Amino acid sequence: MANEIYILQDRCTGCGSCVKVCPVNCISMSDRPKQEGVRWKKLATIDVNKCVFCNACVEDCDKLFEKTKVKVPNPDFFHAIVMKKEEVKVQIDTASYKGVWCFAEQRHGRLMPTIFELLHVAKKLSSDLNEDLSAVLMGHQVSQYAQDILEHGADKVYVLDHPIFEHFLDEVYTCALTDLIKREKPNKLLMPASIIGRSFASRVAIAAQTGITADATELSINQKNGTLHATRPSFGGNLMATILCEKHRPEMATVRPMSFPRAARQPGRKGEIVRVTVDPSQWNIRSKFVKYEAEKNETIDITAAEKIVSGGRGLGKPEGFKIIEEFAQTIGAAVGASRPTVDAGWIPYKHQVGLTGRTVRPKLYIACGISGQIQHLAGMSSAEVVIAINKDPECPMFKLATLSVEGDLYELIPLIIQEIKRVRDHK
Ligand SMILES: Cc1cc2nc3c(=O)[nH]c(=O)nc-3n(C[C@H](O)[C@H](O)[C@H](O)COP(=O)(O)OP(=O)(O)OC[C@H]3O[C@@H](n4cnc5c(N)ncnc54)[C@H](O)[C@@H]3O)c2cc1C
Repeated sequence: MANEIYILQDRCTGCGSCVKVCPVNCISMSDRPKQEGVRWKKLATIDVNKCVFCNACVEDCDKLFEKTKVKVPNPDFFHAIVMKKEEVKVQIDTASYKGVWCFAEQRHGRLMPTIFELLHVAKKLSSDLNEDLSAVLMGHQVSQYAQDILEHGADKVYVLDHPIFEHFLDEVYTCALTDLIKREKPNKLLMPASIIGRSFASRVAIAAQTGITADATELSINQKNGTLHATRPSFGGNLMATILCEKHRPEMATVRPMSFPRAARQPGRKGEIVRVTVDPSQWNIRSKFVKYEAEKNETIDITAAEKIVSGGRGLGKPEGFKIIEEFAQTIGAAVGASRPTVDAGWIPYKHQVGLTGRTVRPKLYIACGISGQIQHLAGMSSAEVVIAINKDPECPMFKLATLSVEGDLYELIPLIIQEIKRVRDHK
């Protein structure tokens, strides 16, 4: 049965209330053909091709019916929209899905380190489930990375090496991964919440008729029924929500980069490498890759940086970032920022560290004029060494810092830069 929606003309008063609630503007009011005994001048018309069958208009009209029922018993108007919706029931045998998969992202032929973070957390999930851990590597001339992935904990690597995967295209990657999922039936699938992972993981979930948790920061297995508990910050970071997808497989999640450490490498570790043949002629691809243009004046990406110098509201003005940039340049670091400086437009969002920014895991994090509120710490507390420069000896950042420097950053940073340069020049 296809979805159906229609107006009961005798009950429609032409009030137009349904027009206002329709989110896709598919209802309009037209002049009602003259009809004896009917005093209403207008009539609602629904464009069924545009309708998304959300039920908003039906609910609205029914509410009006209830209201009028109170005033006029047995009203013969409102309750004028009838919707019959096809019930989609997908019932799958969840027990036939086995194994934990991680998607190994590559960019321009280079393997991204996110796979090692996924393998770290997926190893625990697969051992809790007592199932295999696999990775899916997709690209052109990328097969050489399969051994590295095995050495980081995967039992099996599916390699899809084909020229069509050279440049990332959502549709192509979606078709290939969905085909593989349908054939191999994995139980769980983790993907990086990177630009690439985010852009096609949701398509894969829809094509594979399953659910996905975006941007998970914690993952665990429910020991009673083996389902995935994927936890992520919600409501602007004020709550942590654990999301379940119990009836569909694979249970999918994109995982925030830097939320987990990298899996340790065991040189020489053996596993299975499965070369998957693909037939792109079977896919209906409507987009094509035109060209890649690198961002101009690209700054060091904070999520990949080993050293970060971050500036906070203590800078006092947008120009304050000049001194942070100079400091960062002197030691070859990336520039980070706290949220108020980003909100104020002093620096672009891609530099924001914290709960609603990026999570970073550098070897050295230098926080300048950042108080150390919990939402900022959420993004950087895994840094190996933290140096805090702040004029407030009571600031929370000093409690976390390996080295706390009390004083005005505008006095201290030039001295630090000068000293670094002096030592360097005398080497
Ligand atoms: C839902 C939610 C999500 C959030 N997400 C994030 C996030 O992702 N990232 C984030 O950073 N924040 C986030 N915040 C905001 C967070 O709560 C803090 O407000 C923010 O981190 C404070 O930034 P700050 O330390 O730069 O500013 P402040 O707290 O104002 O601290 C400024 C510091 O600079 C020091 N200072 C001032 N002048 C000088 C000087 N001349 N020399 C040296 N030190 C000086 C002060 O002593 C002070 O400690 C979020 C908040 C909410 C509610």
